[in-house]
Amino acid sequence: MLKTIESLGELRGKAVLVRSDFNVPLKDGVITDDGRIRAALPTLQKLTEAGAKVIVMAHLGRPKGEVKAEFSLAPVAKRLGALVDVPVKRASDLTGESAQAEIAALGAGEILLLENVRFDPRETSKDDAARAELAGELAKFADFFVSDGFGVVHRKQASVYDIAKRLPAAAGLLVMKEIESLSRATENPERPYTVVLGGSKVSDKLGVIANLLGKADALLIGGGMAYTFLKAKGYEVGNSLLEEDQLETVKGYMEEAQKNGVELLVPVDTVVAPEFAADAPATIVAADSIPADQMGLDIGPKTAELFAEKIATSRTVVWNGPMGVFEFPAFAKGTEAVATALSESAAFTVIGGGDSAAAVRGLGFDEEKFSHISTGGGASLELLEGKVLPGISVLED
Ligand code: ADP
Ligand code: MG
Repeated sequence: MLKTIESLGELRGKAVLVRSDFNVPLKDGVITDDGRIRAALPTLQKLTEAGAKVIVMAHLGRPKGEVKAEFSLAPVAKRLGALVDVPVKRASDLTGESAQAEIAALGAGEILLLENVRFDPRETSKDDAARAELAGELAKFADFFVSDGFGVVHRKQASVYDIAKRLPAAAGLLVMKEIESLSRATENPERPYTVVLGGSKVSDKLGVIANLLGKADALLIGGGMAYTFLKAKGYEVGNSLLEEDQLETVKGYMEEAQKNGVELLVPVDTVVAPEFAADAPATIVAADSIPADQMGLDIGPKTAELFAEKIATSRTVVWNGPMGVFEFPAFAKGTEAVATALSESAAFTVIGGGDSAAAVRGLGFDEEKFSHISTGGGASLELLEGKVLPGISVLED
């Protein structure tokens, strides 16, 4: 069981360090999608309403342990300030003079955002002692720790893992919701349990496929990874994305699926084009007839229908990875068809993966139509792989 915020006891006047995931996309210093900031609000509101002094740690981008102005959390502090109705203050460093002064002046029910944790090389250090040192400096600031950055719970980092060993710790509301939804879908799924996998590379998702071959009733494969499966079946795939070095592994998966009675569906048709471009002319061909000079950029309509039928008769559906190059409207139909099937299904439906979630939002789907859209790409994949996540196990009692 994860420790809850309630288990920490009275919070009025207490300093609570919170790890949030504010790693939002920025374009010319402007936040283009504030979904992650919004997802963090329930926990922050709960803590401020309880009268805590809330000190938030977060990262942005990959500054690689150096202070870099373009990765400053200043725009995030501003947006956060606009989304909550309590004062949001900002420190210009993580544990230095600015942080110390701001914390000393922080009032009950107020929020302080510390500067990017990844400006400090100790945050992501592989050296346990270095991380412990940073966690020790941070722990001095607070009475409690609340872990709510689901996107980073698969990382053994100072602000995620080490800090939880130094302060009474609890899972925030977002982490709770993510874990409840993903474990409902992966540990004891209502059957039939169907998993739809896509995205660019098989090699990114080997662990997921291997684990699901022992759990799911059906595995539907689309996206760029499908062509390695088609090739393994003996078909020619032209210039489609192909990972030659995974052919043997994929053949092994196909045999294991058969042995375990897992239905493994690969595309029966595909949308091809002569080049990887938004305006490339699209043609639909059978999966065994991909021309040598073309590449597959989406699943075809027959495949989309087949996948939709399978989804419609499932009780649990997990989807990770777009069915095609959804960024180009001409090759987004397969992804849209799968999203539609999920949105119309009465099953418990979970979407994991950063691009899949972006695709669903970009195509204009109502998020309420899905049981859960995960905020963490890597973390949700590792849960699908059946891994124990360091940032989660450290919150268990
Ligand atoms: P997620 O983030 O949801 O886990 P991935 O990162 O694995 O998904 O993959 C997303 C990417 O896969 C998208 O950018 C999409 O354009 C690409 N993709 C999907 N199908 C194909 C294809 N047939 N050929 C090339 N790229 C593809
Ligand atoms: Mg991705």
